[in-house]
Amino acid sequence: MSQASYRQDGEIAVITMENPPVNGLGFDLRTGIDACVRRAMADASVKAVVLTGTARAFSGGADIREFNSPKSTASPNLMELITLIEGADKPVVAAVGGLALGGGNELALGCHYRVCAPGTMIGLPEVNLGLLPGAGGTQRLPRVVGAAKALDMIVSGAPIKSEEAFKLGYCSKLVEGDLVAGAVAFAREVLASGAARPKIRDKAVDPASMPGGADAFFAQAREQIAKTYRGYPAPMKNLECVEAAVKKPFDEGMMVERTLFEELLRSTESASLRHAFFAERAAAKIPDVPEDTPTRPVKSAAVIGAGTMGGGITMNFLNAGIPVTLLETKQDALDRGIATIRKNYEGTAKKGRMTQEQVEQRMAMITPTLSYAALAQADIVVEAVFEDMAVKQTVFETLDATMKPDAILASNTSTLDVDRIAGFTKRPQDVIGTHFFSPANVMRLLEIVRGKATAKDVLATTMALSKKIKKVGVVSGVCDGFIGNRMIEQYSRQAGFLLEEGCTPQQVDGALERFGFAMGPFRMGDLAGNDVGWYIRKRRYLEKPDLRYSKTADLLCEMGRYGQKTSAGWYDYKPGDRTAYPSAVVETMLVEERARLGVTPRQVSDEEIVHRLLFAMVNEAAYILEEGIAMRASDIDIIYLTGYGFPRYRGGPMFYADTVGLPKVVEIMNGFAANPNADPSFWKPAPLLAKLAAAGKRFNG
Ligand code: NAD
Repeated sequence: MSQASYRQDGEIAVITMENPPVNGLGFDLRTGIDACVRRAMADASVKAVVLTGTARAFSGGADIREFNSPKSTASPNLMELITLIEGADKPVVAAVGGLALGGGNELALGCHYRVCAPGTMIGLPEVNLGLLPGAGGTQRLPRVVGAAKALDMIVSGAPIKSEEAFKLGYCSKLVEGDLVAGAVAFAREVLASGAARPKIRDKAVDPASMPGGADAFFAQAREQIAKTYRGYPAPMKNLECVEAAVKKPFDEGMMVERTLFEELLRSTESASLRHAFFAERAAAKIPDVPEDTPTRPVKSAAVIGAGTMGGGITMNFLNAGIPVTLLETKQDALDRGIATIRKNYEGTAKKGRMTQEQVEQRMAMITPTLSYAALAQADIVVEAVFEDMAVKQTVFETLDATMKPDAILASNTSTLDVDRIAGFTKRPQDVIGTHFFSPANVMRLLEIVRGKATAKDVLATTMALSKKIKKVGVVSGVCDGFIGNRMIEQYSRQAGFLLEEGCTPQQVDGALERFGFAMGPFRMGDLAGNDVGWYIRKRRYLEKPDLRYSKTADLLCEMGRYGQKTSAGWYDYKPGDRTAYPSAVVETMLVEERARLGVTPRQVSDEEIVHRLLFAMVNEAAYILEEGIAMRASDIDIIYLTGYGFPRYRGGPMFYADTVGLPKVVEIMNGFAANPNADPSFWKPAPLLAKLAAAGKRFNG
């Protein structure tokens, strides 16, 4: 069945795109539009054409269901369709409502006129997938809205609303009410005034849109992009296209666009970004919990503990319009927690991202309490008290005794056994782990820990809730540290060994940051507080006395160097200044520790540093996959992209290992095992990794 419908309103043909949900420009829709346009051209009774979509979307661009399939470029491809429309001998008016993104926007730009519904989102977001608009978008948009605005839109990928687009000259009219009727009326006006068919390709880019002249404008933009988008090739290629739109004739500009598009399409960075895009969608799917699993209503929440995490978790609920009852044991802790939440909101208001009225509205949605009776009716309760099993036990026993039936009982524990916690209640089916990341109101990741007994509807509800509070929910099974922290432990252990072998903290951090991490392990430790890991190590390594790890981090904590909060950690800090300065005290501690161990320091390359840390994690991840703690390799990638500052253009640790090639990863690990300082058993490839490498396969399909 055709995905484009055709009707006639007097002398105007109306072509409607019908490929829900967002009129993705897949093969069937393109074929449908092509046939309708040809029919309109061939029919003498038709004098003009209106091309439109649904109220939800003119078109969201390429049909992602066809991504990477030959259908996505099969004729008529988008470029051919746009050429057909632009060259048509009757005026074509795009009636644009909902959204016009990517290829959808390029299609609208290929029409002779555009009229828009108010509130329509218009953009070219291809850069988010490491690409550029490859059907003339980079050449036509600057000719319509000017170079500066087009560059901003194309490089950031951020859409603008039609109200702004109208002011910039993107469309001829904003139509209130019935968009198609307005577009038909507009087409009649066009016919009445001579049926002109203006083509954007014939226009020049307005020189006034490049303050200081084209050369100075692009030189400055280049500098800015190089700084802002380190590691991402697409923004600069997008700039080159916009510059071509300014400096070259249209057809030559189109050739530049085509060449650079193909270069990007073949790049590892784009492959990584596309992987990340699909991985995020895949993470929402749980094979044995179908999408239509009924969910429990969540209209109110409660949070236990108003500390670092409890405060941030509360804010997530408030931001989504869910009122929160916040419980503490003591009034002063409660007051402090509430004051921190207020301070955070006021900071946002000061930056102009919230009004004072909104601050008050959010604060009014918190009910502070010292009594469990006040939260008994909450639909979900999230526990964020001290990381101590005895404390968790008291809290969950009390929750079991007080909460209404069917309430979801969630724990924010970062390391403890969720099944044991569930066992403190008579309703283990209602217990789940919700592992937020710090700062909880900022970080997008939510590890959702599925206990042995967790009911499917509890899991489905928590997944849906994660979306509502704008988090990326990823399911993990129960194990110490769950997916993310279990892997990071191996990364941290290697970072410690590197110090023993001769590296400085700044050298290790530098290598990881050049690889693209927001922060290396030592700067990260200083930010989060080195004491947190110290307590965890004390517990963990007591249980595993044979496990080798570097004592350097313990020695650091024994000196009271907890990080930024004590103005001293792996680095020195000046009060009120987050700049990390290399520390002579730490250097001396490292020299002494190496002497104690009898290690002769050696030069370690950046490449070795990165591979040691990453492949240590990847090997642990292979166990995590094999044990079924993670459902799929791409979930692990998403955890690292959204919770640990892993560079998105590298696709996540598993995708990175796939990019290097698993046989090569194993070969490199074998090399590390030969290092005299290494524990060879550490570098023994996990069975899954060994199996995939031997078969020449990848983690990600
Ligand atoms: P925190 O010390 O900042 O806050 C804990 C709060 O709980 C304190 O305000 C304390 O007064 C309160 N509290 C203690 N016992 C209580 C009880 N019985 N009833 C009510 N309130 C009680 O700790 P945090 O960093 O917010 O960590 C809380 C939980 O979140 C822990 O399980 C931790 O492992 C986990 N977590 C922490 C982080 C992090 O980066 N800080 C990240 C993820 C998860």
